[in-house]
Amino acid sequence: MAAPSSFDVLVIGSGASGLEAAVSAERAGARVVLAAKGSLQSCNSAKAQGGIQAAFGEDDSPEQHAEDVWNSSHETADRQLVEVLTAEAPSAIHWLEELGVEFTRENGGYRLARCGGASRKRLLQVGDRTGHAITKALREAFEASTATALAKSPLRSLERREQGWRAVCGDHVIDAATIVLAAGGRCFKEAEERGELSTNHPGATGEVTQIALELGAEARDLDALQYHPNGGAWPPNMQGYSIPETTRAYGAVLLNAEREEFTDSLAPRDIVSQAIFDEVSQGRGVETPDGRPAVYLDTTRIAEHDAEISLPYMLRRYRGGGIDPLREPILTYPVLHYQNGGLVIDADAETTLEGLYACGEIAGGTHGRNRMMGNSLLECCVFGRRAGRAAAGKAKAA
Ligand SMILES: Cc1cc2nc3c(=O)[nH]c(=O)nc-3n(C[C@H](O)[C@H](O)[C@H](O)COP(=O)(O)OP(=O)(O)OC[C@H]3O[C@@H](n4cnc5c(N)ncnc54)[C@H](O)[C@@H]3O)c2cc1C
Repeated sequence: MAAPSSFDVLVIGSGASGLEAAVSAERAGARVVLAAKGSLQSCNSAKAQGGIQAAFGEDDSPEQHAEDVWNSSHETADRQLVEVLTAEAPSAIHWLEELGVEFTRENGGYRLARCGGASRKRLLQVGDRTGHAITKALREAFEASTATALAKSPLRSLERREQGWRAVCGDHVIDAATIVLAAGGRCFKEAEERGELSTNHPGATGEVTQIALELGAEARDLDALQYHPNGGAWPPNMQGYSIPETTRAYGAVLLNAEREEFTDSLAPRDIVSQAIFDEVSQGRGVETPDGRPAVYLDTTRIAEHDAEISLPYMLRRYRGGGIDPLREPILTYPVLHYQNGGLVIDADAETTLEGLYACGEIAGGTHGRNRMMGNSLLECCVFGRRAGRAAAGKAKAA
């Protein structure tokens, strides 16, 4: 093991939240090191397709956005965190644009879609590779900074010292005044244990949450895992793929074996997923050629123009598997997707342990027990920035 190296801020994780935190801490004057389990590119954030929410519509406001989050969470979210999330959404978008993200535009404004649980059109997109565009821009900003990157250096242990923290990340021992945990959720591991499909990357295994809990950090809603209503069910190369929710925003509807609509396709995620489970368990679903349960997602209702602008990647992938979603309905079934709960944080993303911050999927409260789509990337950006700035501030004051 190498001798300890010393930094102001140690960030764990290289998804959108970790990169946001690292860039923000470095710009606030801190000496920053970021450790990731695999390569810097490997994370859930880069897989996000659908988009990111922010109230830009003329009929919309941060307050309306907050109300939709509150209702979709079934009144379980932390209202203070929700207000921060929605109030800072427009500035988070502008900051991403400054870093080079080009959101899809039309008629002089953003192309906005209405996602499940939303009362307004509020979802900004970069085609259907929004997460890829955001993480690429953030990684470039990170690489242009003075921050140090340690790839293939998983956090193995963390202990409190008299002055700050000591962490072991792979072969590195790091002393840091403050820590930002941005290691994502655990749905890959959970799905493996349940024998189910998941949309998540293999690094989503949750051990960093466990380390924080063992140190005494508080958590909330850890049992509330989210199914993405529309996992790909067929063809085999699309099993576990998260069909972008924007398919439904642009007109696709869910149909049972009788080709009847059985639910509001734009209801909150938990309601849509449950409706599919119920329909199948009551014998009105269909089977994939390899015997898996499914229902139809009638994507033929999406206008070709909308699909070409907002769903090109999804179309390419299905067509590569021999199915054209604009000509025939596709088969879908819910897949394990997102950890709604996580470590308790305050508005600066500090956990219940001083000097230990958490942002992104590893944190809880912002979505309560049921997240709306498009609010996770937003949470990474808003609370990643807050965590980075606050961690830098506390480190410098130490
Ligand atoms: C397929 C898919 C589509 C999605 N679509 C959308 C969407 O359209 N809109 C939206 O808002 N959200 C979407 N989401 C959800 C959203 O992308 C994620 O919840 C969010 O990006 C999580 O970001 P994060 O930074 O918290 O974690 P991640 O992006 O998962 O990053 C976690 C990082 O921590 C690292 N890590 C893990 N364990 C350790 C360890 N022990 N030591 C060091 N590093 C570790 C990982 O390697 C990784 O670098 C989607 C998710 C998936 C999987």
